[in-house]
Amino acid sequence: MISEKAPAKINLTLDVLQKRPDGFHEVEMIMTTVDLADRIWLKPLDRGITIQSSERFVPNDKRNLAWQAADILRKKFDIRSGVEITLDKNIPVAAGLAGGSSDAAATLRGLNRMWELGLSLDELAVLGAKIGSDIPFCVYGGTALASGRGEKIQHLSVPPNCWVVLAKPPISVSTADIYGGLDIQSIQHPDTAGMMDALAASDYEMMCQKVGNALEPVTMRLHPQVSVLKEQMLKFGADTVLMSGSGPTVFGLVEHESQVARIYNGLKGFCPEVYAVRMMGERINLA
Ligand code: ATP
Repeated sequence: MISEKAPAKINLTLDVLQKRPDGFHEVEMIMTTVDLADRIWLKPLDRGITIQSSERFVPNDKRNLAWQAADILRKKFDIRSGVEITLDKNIPVAAGLAGGSSDAAATLRGLNRMWELGLSLDELAVLGAKIGSDIPFCVYGGTALASGRGEKIQHLSVPPNCWVVLAKPPISVSTADIYGGLDIQSIQHPDTAGMMDALAASDYEMMCQKVGNALEPVTMRLHPQVSVLKEQMLKFGADTVLMSGSGPTVFGLVEHESQVARIYNGLKGFCPEVYAVRMMGERINLA
């Protein structure tokens, strides 16, 4: 049996540059992994792909991104044997934290070992891009700028040490609705280059100033709870607060550990899912 850790990501920035003729949006996103993670278990089977999950809202068939990751490898390398994939879910589902994408990326890394395919992370990321735009980043983890449809990855410096408080309001957000509600002409573009400078300089205050997410106003318009949560988190003492991905999870960056419990306890009162985690920063190595 093989096991892989599948960490969640947060977006320090998310920008949408244009809608491409193929209907996809051209994005620029600076993402970093945090130590809230699913664990996946891979067990050899004689044939087929099966999925089981600790979370009942996660599909256990070909709609599961981990299933699709196994399928793409099986087809490409003409693998006759199968795999039983077990997902121990800790990352909230449909939250903007790339839980499904990270499970798929971990499945690619794990099956590369189990089936002795000898692929590099770069090769796994190319395959992952065929399934979903957050998967290439999740193959490597760490901190990176993802551009294009998410398939162009530029690795960046590890962010300055800090805590991340995550809070997911009990609402579901459709990524398609959020992109659909975006008016390309009136986007407030985050300062992606400024964030890259902040990371290169390991400047915590500048990192806090440069966070930005072009999708945030759209999600907040549709779900006012998200802006209420942001205000609460700031009030309890977070240094900066931003929505991750298309939401609805909001994260706060906190430099001093003494502040973390105050924010965590303050939010726990009215938001059911709150986590205090660290950034992981370092990239994942092939085991
Ligand atoms: P992203 O930040 O990449 O947009 P997300 O965090 O918003 O992702 P996910 O948790 O990946 O969202 O789930 C989005 C949808 O994908 C879910 O509603 C679920 O039906 C489906 N899904 C497919 N595979 C998985 C998986 N392994 N874990 C969770 N959800 C999955």
